[in-house]
Amino acid sequence: MLRIKYENMFINVEETIIEEIRARRQVNYQDKESGGMVIGSIVINSNEIEIKDYTIPQIGDHQSRYRFIRKKKTHNAILQKKWMDSNGTVMYMGEWHTHPENDPHYSQQDIRNWRKLLKKSYTFTDYLIFIIGGIDSYKIWVGNRLNGEIVNIYKGAYDEISSNSN
Ligand SMILES: [Zn+2]
Repeated sequence: MLRIKYENMFINVEETIIEEIRARRQVNYQDKESGGMVIGSIVINSNEIEIKDYTIPQIGDHQSRYRFIRKKKTHNAILQKKWMDSNGTVMYMGEWHTHPENDPHYSQQDIRNWRKLLKKSYTFTDYLIFIIGGIDSYKIWVGNRLNGEIVNIYKGAYDEISSNSN
């Protein structure tokens, strides 16, 4: 578990999502962007968020070398099922996607999209998590829905994950 401090709270990210991103990173020239939802829960009576699930690319999503656009309907249906299976404890918590660069940076399109999600997402959390998986490293941002701020909170290398979980 990655445990990241942000202001007066902790954001805990299970390694499974990082492993998934690693498996889908764009190492070869023909590899396309992948992405999906980040799913998790707010720990009751604490200042903690847990990211423990995600969706992966589905049929109908747009995947090209520099673009990933997920179809709302299919991912929402998966989220709905996970929500029911968890007795309503997990919810939408943000987005992940890959980039064909070693050290990932968000694009202007990404930041516009994230700002829109902060305003419009139907979920109970005040914070959304955005992950971009590059080739060598990945980065995690948190978006604050109360003030619209988006902050990079973590940068990690994939090999740190494998050495931790072994
Ligand atoms: Zn992007």
